[in-house]
Amino acid sequence: MYTGIGASAGIGIGSVVVVKEPSLAYNNVAISDVAAEKARFNEALEKCIAKTQAMAEDMKTRVGEKEAEILEGHVLLLMDPEMSSQIESNIENEKMCAEAAVEQTCDLFAQMFSSLEDEMFQQRATDVCDIKTRLLKILLDVEDVDLASVPEGTVLVAEDLTPSMTAGINPANVAGVLTEIGGKTSHSAILARALEIPAVLSIEGIVSKVENGQKVVLDGTSGHVFLSPDEATLAEYTEKREKYLEEKAALAAFIGKESSTADGRVVELCANIGKPEDALKVVECDGEGVGLFRTEFLFMDRPQVPTEDEQFEAYKKVAETLEGKPVIIRTLDIGGDKEIPYLGLGKEENPFLGFRAIRLCLQREDLYRPQLRALLRASAFGDIKIMVPMVTCVDEFRAVKTMLKEIMAELDEKSIPYNKDIKVGIMVETPAASLMADVFAKEADFFSIGTNDLTQYTMAVDRGNPDVAYLYSTYNPAVLRSIERVIKAGKEGGAMVGMCGEAAADPLLTPLLLSFGLDEFSVSATSILATRKTISLWTMEEANAVAEKAMSMATEAEIQEYLKSVAK
Ligand code: PEP
Ligand code: MG
Repeated sequence: MYTGIGASAGIGIGSVVVVKEPSLAYNNVAISDVAAEKARFNEALEKCIAKTQAMAEDMKTRVGEKEAEILEGHVLLLMDPEMSSQIESNIENEKMCAEAAVEQTCDLFAQMFSSLEDEMFQQRATDVCDIKTRLLKILLDVEDVDLASVPEGTVLVAEDLTPSMTAGINPANVAGVLTEIGGKTSHSAILARALEIPAVLSIEGIVSKVENGQKVVLDGTSGHVFLSPDEATLAEYTEKREKYLEEKAALAAFIGKESSTADGRVVELCANIGKPEDALKVVECDGEGVGLFRTEFLFMDRPQVPTEDEQFEAYKKVAETLEGKPVIIRTLDIGGDKEIPYLGLGKEENPFLGFRAIRLCLQREDLYRPQLRALLRASAFGDIKIMVPMVTCVDEFRAVKTMLKEIMAELDEKSIPYNKDIKVGIMVETPAASLMADVFAKEADFFSIGTNDLTQYTMAVDRGNPDVAYLYSTYNPAVLRSIERVIKAGKEGGAMVGMCGEAAADPLLTPLLLSFGLDEFSVSATSILATRKTISLWTMEEANAVAEKAMSMATEAEIQEYLKSVAK
């Protein structure tokens, strides 16, 4: 058995087709007619742009807009004057043939991108290599590998599955994909997931280990791959495959359905996102809104603070993608385990208990005011709500509301539109906020319970320390009592109460959360349908009975065992 990165879920069973790129060897001799060689390059470039545009169009109709954006990015790179003028200067000054000039320039750009740490730049390097291959093929008049006509039940094995190759794939015939490079967020992974083809990536040397026609089984979740599997493995994975497909079909039945219990109590089912682009996935997975947009990722992915306008565009994009559905945007939650090197914050003895989130923002108005202004401006384009993280005292929340009022007055003065009735709420993720929930409920429009931190702070256990991980469990009666109290106090005080910590997607906790009266569940986009299904399996009477019994128990182990025994 081999193990790689499980990058697209599902079980693939089929026969290997090795995808080998044709030779792109060329005669590397000095040229004499510079003008003719430049013309040859420019003609190839034009053809390449047209071809890539056509591929993007095809991708848009067959797969989706987001996936087409990858190829549209290639078009922009091809049109980049910096790259083409570098190629032309290689032809003119170095007397290189067009092929050599293209190869050298693209390799230089790819090297430059891959030397940068950021994953996005690593991906750019792959894109440049893909473009290089496409340009060389046009210059050398070499045919593309035709993946459109592979037989049914094919498992493609390639060094990398580039967007150009994927564009031609017919998903009905491809049972799986195995590659030597790429990770969960590489374009090959994104495309495999969009086409719903099971894929395992980053399996060292896989191309040389297989031969055409060889039987193969792959598990796109665990990353396991079996070459020439024995009868028992084949039978085991055939059964797993059927089960996976059945479950997937059963979940698809929940698309477009209301999120409600078996006896009709309706709740809201939203999703957590980290980047504006993730909003599309929420819509695809039938989310009813965004329950948590972690804006710190906008600040983490780059070398300097995003400007107010950049933030405005990001928030507006999410609001518009959600088309009027609620979008809860959390203001900057840095510190703890989320570092932003360029802010130059000092090292702390206890970062989780230190200068983080709202504590930092209230002292760094240069960071906070532009974010609040961007959020208010974007609120004119959808149902944006503002959420404040790591609140411990009412004063902190009041300070934010005062700042918002001041910014609103500035916007009024300049006649800049925003939602004057914008809802402002808090994350309840500290014991202090939980104990003061009744007071906060009178001041905040909504709560969202952050169980990831609430568990950490309630149990006084570092959420990342393996030595005390046994204490880090939301099933602890202390944490559950806190959650129950927050939900009840919040609702009594008139605040909508949601949950955006991981516990919201835990099927064992669903009956308890329903019984406590949770209004909104916010989970990862891929957990939306499974959570909707779990909610639909419970009546309130059953959920109340489970909650009553669980809440009478004294230990984490007892509660967990009991919840497992009654899980649906
Ligand atoms: C939480 O603490 O539960 C939460 C949702 O926030 P984060 O995981 O970003 O700290
Ligand atoms: Mg948190």
